[in-house]
Amino acid sequence: MAYENVGLVWTPDSLVEYLASIEPPAWCRAITLHHTGAPSLAQRPRGFLLQHIRNLRDFYQNEKHWSAGPHLFIDDDEIFGMCDLQKKGVHAVSFNSSALGIEVLGDYDTEDPLSGRGLACWQTAAASCSALSSWLGLKVNAESILFHRDDPTTRKSCPGSKVKKDWFLKLIKTSGANPIPTGETGKPDVGMPWEQWTFRGERWCVPAYAFLLAHGMKSKDIVARLKSAGGLFFFASEQLEGAFFAGKDSNLKPNQCTWAPARELLELL
Ligand SMILES: [Zn+2]
Repeated sequence: MAYENVGLVWTPDSLVEYLASIEPPAWCRAITLHHTGAPSLAQRPRGFLLQHIRNLRDFYQNEKHWSAGPHLFIDDDEIFGMCDLQKKGVHAVSFNSSALGIEVLGDYDTEDPLSGRGLACWQTAAASCSALSSWLGLKVNAESILFHRDDPTTRKSCPGSKVKKDWFLKLIKTSGANPIPTGETGKPDVGMPWEQWTFRGERWCVPAYAFLLAHGMKSKDIVARLKSAGGLFFFASEQLEGAFFAGKDSNLKPNQCTWAPARELLELL
């Protein structure tokens, strides 16, 4: 059974909350976008129903005999689960082992992604990519946000010849539903770009080294004081509650890929 998430449905905001409750997988370095082609927007005038998602699961499982499928299906305003976000899916030969797969409802060789329902679907996709990239600790760029057609083994135009990569990257970066809720979750203003934040363990976290450096602390002082022992993190003798390692870049020293809740770090200044 690798279609564990059939039945789960999120909005972009509730997806952010869900992601905060699960660990990001170490194998995932990118997100791959597809369009469904068929069904098109015209064939799904009210978007996906849960039954459509079950039918797609049956198609992948029973007709294609795939061990898994894409991870998420997106329509005008909702995000439908298909496969476990922590496990590898099946959606693009060259990207299966390193990228999540997202299917956007519509046929964007013929339907318009820039207006009406097409735009609504791509805005939902952008908000989802924003939430996912923040969860995965990825910078949003042309390498982390892949289109199926970037795969050299396919000749498909997927996710549709009318969808341009630069346009979609901008849509993610200006996404109205980017995962920065205001109000009670309390993202303190510490002058770091939001791409560098991640919401984890119910708290907003930032890379500790970059944060302290940006606030005037000397590199060698940070390196000397930032420590981890027995799964706990410390700055000198202060425990950093809720800190964790999130280093995917092998050039980083362990103490440079420590992330911690921003409020914990603010108290060190
Ligand atoms: Zn595709």
